Amino acid sequence: MSTFDEKWVLCPICGAKTRLRLLQRTVLLHFPLFCPKCRKESIINAQNFQIEIIDQPDAKTQC
Ligand SMILES: [Zn+2]
Repeated sequence: MSTFDEKWVLCPICGAKTRLRLLQRTVLLHFPLFCPKCRKESIINAQNFQIEIIDQPDAKTQC
């Protein structure tokens, strides 16, 4: 075990690199991924470097 397998998560909206890294064993469920570039938040699942964007059908607009 000499190398860490890790991957930076890219913003699903603008494609910029976020500050979130994944290890191969990292598992995220409904994780709020914030992008510092476009300042938007996406809810994601991640497992084994596969990132899945979760649509928020019941997203409520809050003022
Ligand atoms: Zn972005």
